[in-house]
Amino acid sequence: MGAREYARGRRVVARLPHGGDLLEEIAAVADAHGMQAAELRAIGALQTARLAFYDQTSHEYGEFSVAAPVELVGLLGNVSRRDGATAVHAHATLAGHDGACVGGHVAPGCVIFACELLLQELVGEPLEREFDEVTGLPLWRGL
Ligand code: ZN
Repeated sequence: MGAREYARGRRVVARLPHGGDLLEEIAAVADAHGMQAAELRAIGALQTARLAFYDQTSHEYGEFSVAAPVELVGLLGNVSRRDGATAVHAHATLAGHDGACVGGHVAPGCVIFACELLLQELVGEPLEREFDEVTGLPLWRGL
């Protein structure tokens, strides 16, 4: 277990563009405001949805499409750095017309219908990702 303290920085609220890719648009907002690390929350609706499940044995993500359109009931995650670029890591809960929910790790290919994003900047040491041998995941370095 490793932990590090961060101070709260700026809060940015954004309306993400219709037709944009969810992960790319969140990264663009973080970049536009020079945020190196942040907590993120969002709600909205998606035109198409792609999620993933990480296989803890094979160490591979299995991506799957979700029947869309869907409500983006909740998106939780963070912004950090990986290989010098902004890395958005987010998990979503999605609901169809009957309210039944599915969830998972957000993959590329989630096309925004409408989305309201809140970024809470974290101010402190750089929050960088590096490959972790045990899990096979890009986890936070030094924690
Ligand atoms: Zn994940």
